[in-house]
Amino acid sequence: MKLKKIPLIDLKPQYQSIEKTLNEVTLNVLSSSSYIIGENVKEFEKEFSKYLGVNNSISVGNGTDALIIALKALGIGQGDEVITTPYTFFATAESISFVGATPVFVDVKLDTFNIDPNKIEEKITSKTKAIMPVHIFGQPCDMDVINAIAKKHNLYVIEDAAQAIGSEYKGQKIGTLSDIATFSFFPTKNLGCAGDGGMIVTNNDSLATICKALRAHGSGENGQKAYNILNNTDENITEDNSNDNTVYNSLKYYNYLIGHNSRLDEIQAAILRVKLREIDKWNNARRENARFYNENLKDTNLVTPFEDKDVKHVYHLYILQSEKRAELVSYLSNKGISTGVYYPVPLHLQKAYKDLGYKEGDLPNAEYLSYRTFAIPMFAELTDEEKQYIIESIKGFGE
Ligand SMILES: *Cc1c(COP(=O)(O)O)cnc(C)c1O
Repeated sequence: MKLKKIPLIDLKPQYQSIEKTLNEVTLNVLSSSSYIIGENVKEFEKEFSKYLGVNNSISVGNGTDALIIALKALGIGQGDEVITTPYTFFATAESISFVGATPVFVDVKLDTFNIDPNKIEEKITSKTKAIMPVHIFGQPCDMDVINAIAKKHNLYVIEDAAQAIGSEYKGQKIGTLSDIATFSFFPTKNLGCAGDGGMIVTNNDSLATICKALRAHGSGENGQKAYNILNNTDENITEDNSNDNTVYNSLKYYNYLIGHNSRLDEIQAAILRVKLREIDKWNNARRENARFYNENLKDTNLVTPFEDKDVKHVYHLYILQSEKRAELVSYLSNKGISTGVYYPVPLHLQKAYKDLGYKEGDLPNAEYLSYRTFAIPMFAELTDEEKQYIIESIKGFGE
């Protein structure tokens, strides 16, 4: 077979499959001249809530802001500790640090790569306010055990579901199994927009109101309601602003909380509404690809991904493990096959976290994985020919 380039994630075939609709909805937004929190954002939030089976969806500018705003809405800040995983994208811990709290890293399980619930309790202190599990690569964490620990110690649970849209734990959608959960619509995520975007979901209406206020400078009606919630007053008292003649939002220039400017724009929402209708199909295609890889690599020395029996994994990335990662990755690159290393440095060993005082050996499983794991191409539209070529190439390496 002729050498062809196979990227790790190719966004083009997905675009081509819905090109006409995406172009149309984008142009409709342009001609509507309503660009921020208009019809598409409102409808997308409703559709997202319905898809997950959750009461409130609050769209924001990106997945990192979603985490930051969720933490702030829970009142987490200076002096607090949040337990999380070191084997994740930096934004998980960064959001905790950003609000002034300290990330406390707990090692991961070698099979699922997710936080090991059995190691959480030993890290709980009087400062611990929350647990932030990450459903890494689309594999759900053991939420029953995590929630039981949280309940026992009176902690919040915030799911970082950036990589796990559509995945399920015991038949229930990820994002509905905690106090508050966040998603990212970064283009390469399973549900990606044409730029940056994020979502916060929660069944708690008060938290939702606070998040809505925080995404827009703590102003407006949501700002006022959030202020009232936080000050234990009647949430629906409205100040008399009758002298304000701002046409569309009489409270826009009344600020009740220190917030952010972090909103999903109408073009992104319009695109995401189209894509949300396809997400299950795309996730199932990813699962099919994973099955094909698993089946065809089982007689090699490579470790293939584990799928917990109670879950539906959505394979944001398909991760293999090899003792000879560097050689294999370069061998595949010469065959035109892209790979990626997720994640080469666990967060407790990142320079940015030097001051937390962790050293090599502290979280051995995360460190072990960071030396061995690599991703091979995974997206819904991979062709049989491409998958076959990838398998043949890996086998040609002789591992
Ligand atoms: C992508 C990602 C984020 C951040 O999302 P952005 O939209 O890029 O800000 C946070 N956590 C995890 C686990 C991610 O993969």
